[in-house]
Amino acid sequence: MKTEKQKKEEGKEGVVKAKSNAAEGLTELFEDGLKDIYWAEKALTKALPKMAKNATSKKLIDAINSHLKETEGHISHLEKVFDLIGKKAVAKKCDAMDGLIKEGESILEETELGVVRDAGIIAASQKIEHYEIATYGTLRQFAETLGHTKAAKLLAEVLEQEKAADVKLTVIAVDAVNIQAAEEDED
Ligand code: FE
Ligand code: ZN
Ligand code: FE
Repeated sequence: MKTEKQKKEEGKEGVVKAKSNAAEGLTELFEDGLKDIYWAEKALTKALPKMAKNATSKKLIDAINSHLKETEGHISHLEKVFDLIGKKAVAKKCDAMDGLIKEGESILEETELGVVRDAGIIAASQKIEHYEIATYGTLRQFAETLGHTKAAKLLAEVLEQEKAADVKLTVIAVDAVNIQAAEEDED
């Protein structure tokens, strides 16, 4: 139910009117967020193998493949979270992840196979990891606020893996750039 104050605010210019099925409380917002990232993780299990096939650096290929395994773990962690809050695991299309994956795929077409495409893959992957870090950070906090302690712990575990994946990508990128710079110095 809308309060008088909400009705008044919604009349203002630029203030978006909520849809009839809009989330009414934090619980619903939390559930919507879980459905969104559940879709995103599933989409990533399909996108990551394509990225690995297009990478040439052994370190990068290994990093993508090991994160693919972790991503499968994220899906099962999310299923446990749904279970803990007494909800069915449902995926709802995440427009942001859909866009990030599409952007990653277009980078493949826009680069030659080799160091440049590797750099593009790293850049696209880091955007994806940052989206996930932001999402899990929020969801973990929502879970905590709502008193879902066990769910919060599981979400925090995923958050740590996303952060570690991001750090790993940075290290690979810095190494690659350094190696290339050294090679260019030679000739
Ligand atoms: Fe993930
Ligand atoms: Zn999303
Ligand atoms: Fe990830």
